[in-house]
Amino acid sequence: MPPPTDGLGEVLVDQATIRADVARLAAEISTDYADKQLHLIGVLTGSAVFLADLVRALTIPVTVDFISIVPYGQVTASGVVRIRKDLDEPIEGKDVLVVEGICASGLTLSYLLRNFKTRNPASLRVCTFLAKQREREADMRPDYVGREIPDVFVVGYGLDWEERYRNLPHIERLK
Ligand code: 5GP
Ligand code: MG
Repeated sequence: MPPPTDGLGEVLVDQATIRADVARLAAEISTDYADKQLHLIGVLTGSAVFLADLVRALTIPVTVDFISIVPYGQVTASGVVRIRKDLDEPIEGKDVLVVEGICASGLTLSYLLRNFKTRNPASLRVCTFLAKQREREADMRPDYVGREIPDVFVVGYGLDWEERYRNLPHIERLK
């Protein structure tokens, strides 16, 4: 069966590339946290598909929590993000890895990092599947990046346009 592309446009990252990127990230993270109990925080909803693949490729014990924030376009210039659903578990003393689908300006992740830091985790890092090659408005550098892409709007592999196309098995540029 062909993938449900809806004839959107150009495939930027195909399924085989995604698989290889996830395997490489999982190996790197599993090595870096070999002696740790890793606590993953998925940023809903865009990270869900990536996180589901990532956790199954990790070879270390992990726990998982999610945070939900208001969608794209509503991040204010000051970088304040509204939390719609907060974490279920405290992160004090935990080795936390924030998992995001895509990093563009960096404002969202920068806000989340500032917020999480106040909760006193033992360590705090960021893994994003995609990072746009562009100026970051926030002073934010993700620790783990699956793939860098040009600064174009993309959908698929969890990423949406008006809640659609999250189920595409690859990353497409939205025309
Ligand atoms: P930021 O600019 O704060 O780094 O990115 C904010 C959010 O915008 C991301 O978490 C993601 O939800 C959304 N976003 C940014 N670029 C894209 C894109 O190319 N496609 C989609 N679907 N969402 C994007
Ligand atoms: Mg979105």
